[in-house]
Amino acid sequence: MNGSLVIVGTGPGKPELMTPATRAALAEATDLVGYGPYLDRLPSMPGQCRHASDNRVELDRARHALALAAAGRKVAVVSGGDPGVFAMAAAVFEAVESGDPAWGSLDIRVEPGVTAMLAAAAEVGAPLGGDFCAISLSDNLKSWATIERRLRAAAEADFVIALYNPASKARPHQLGEAFTLLRTVKDGTTPVLFVRAAGSADSKVVATTLAAADASVADMRTLVIIGASTTRRVGRWVYTPRGAKP
Ligand code: SAH
Repeated sequence: MNGSLVIVGTGPGKPELMTPATRAALAEATDLVGYGPYLDRLPSMPGQCRHASDNRVELDRARHALALAAAGRKVAVVSGGDPGVFAMAAAVFEAVESGDPAWGSLDIRVEPGVTAMLAAAAEVGAPLGGDFCAISLSDNLKSWATIERRLRAAAEADFVIALYNPASKARPHQLGEAFTLLRTVKDGTTPVLFVRAAGSADSKVVATTLAAADASVADMRTLVIIGASTTRRVGRWVYTPRGAKP
């Protein structure tokens, strides 16, 4: 029997935002590998093995999944949101690159999912309607100097900026530092949106400006969107026009 590995994302929270292709891949798997709380959200299937792990051991988790697939299991690796956005799909390919050469010929596939940025944007209108970029504020895998360089470049190029991983208990000060940096380039009136638990039943939006933005509003389940110079309010919505001209 040939094993296989599919890397899926469960979407931002609501079951309706998980794709049918992901649901089918989960139903076919003999083994699920992922962060415990993501696995707990999934209905249990008879005979299916679950391998829950801590959130910070992604490369070990990826190697474990590859070893199971190489042993003939049908493995699904589970991320939240989209599996390719700051998540397990890249970890799996890092493990393939540095691991057993036989892993390179395994049947590996990625299913797309609704990433937090898209769910958060939909909660408030269309803030990603013009050119935008996504930056993770986590400095677990890259230096803070690199993050600052990218924030500055994105601000100078007038992108809408979506910030993933804006804060955690281990990194309480970085979002405040990011706002301080962005204020040196962008106007204080720029819209800033904090969207917590986007695309779930308990989503919450705080809409403010860059001048007034309070970093303590964000936690690990928050996506922060910082507008471009054209991003504006219309009624109770926030949107970015499609063209560069205001
Ligand atoms: N693969 C995930 C992102 C993982 S990084 C995806 O595609 O969505 C983890 C970060 O994603 C969190 O710190 C938070 O910034 C963001 N995030 C994940 N789910 C979220 C949600 N439902 N609402 C708002 N932000 C979310």
